[in-house]
Amino acid sequence: MPELPEVETIRRQLAPLLEGRRLAALEISDPRWCMPLAPQELRDALEGRRIERLGRRGKYLVWELQDEAFLLAHLRMTGTMLYDPPPATPYERVRFRLDDGHDVRFCDPRRFGTGELALGRPAVDAFFAARVGIEPLSEELDGAALARMARGRRAPVKAFLLDQRHVAGVGNIYADEALFRARLHPLRPAGSLKRAQWDALAGAVRAALTAGLDAGGATIDDFRHADGVSGAFQDEFLVHRRDGEPCPQCGGTVVKLVAAGRGTYVCETCQPRPRRPRRPRRAPQGGR
Ligand SMILES: [Zn+2]
Repeated sequence: MPELPEVETIRRQLAPLLEGRRLAALEISDPRWCMPLAPQELRDALEGRRIERLGRRGKYLVWELQDEAFLLAHLRMTGTMLYDPPPATPYERVRFRLDDGHDVRFCDPRRFGTGELALGRPAVDAFFAARVGIEPLSEELDGAALARMARGRRAPVKAFLLDQRHVAGVGNIYADEALFRARLHPLRPAGSLKRAQWDALAGAVRAALTAGLDAGGATIDDFRHADGVSGAFQDEFLVHRRDGEPCPQCGGTVVKLVAAGRGTYVCETCQPRPRRPRRPRRAPQGGR
């Protein structure tokens, strides 16, 4: 699934090609993309407007059109936004025709990607306030903010990181990479981390995402850049999908386990397992 670096890579490629252009036509061939709105409702709201800015919030691409009409597009599992792809590119669901004759196509084999409409800045703010937390590449992300959100939480720290309402844009790849960099086991209860560990994790999240961005994102299944090229970050993973291979830090073996319901990759030498919580002492017998 595309995570922050993948979505940001697409945004950076498309923004200069889209900004200032007019959306001449919006052709939605799969109505499921914009449900519960009908395709015609999106066309009425967006067609003919100038594209002011292509932004991003978490894993959402934010098309900001003239007079505060916003299209909030999520790629989900397999979505790609392709600029002038070859004519017979499969799995097309939406075509954005620009006034300069070029077009962007949203292609999505598994059809989980979505397009949602928000009219006016307050509507966008409310949309994201309910769904996404801190932008990890912004100043907001630091150990204090993470520690505050995690206070008292017993969920594993990996589940904490994957929850988009805490840190926006971190998914399975970058959670594994960040926890390894911070030398934290993914199954540690979030509320048990010390402040210095949160500081380390904040830095590690930023470092992992930046490494991903520098490599143009990771391509594992379907992710492609806007020009159809694959990302290269999968070649630079430290631990993600490297089970059985040597840990780049200590030479031990990377293992795969399940945390937060997801395949998770760790070096249990560098990232020591949390101690099991002590069993509660048995209640005294008798006297019922
Ligand atoms: Zn190691």
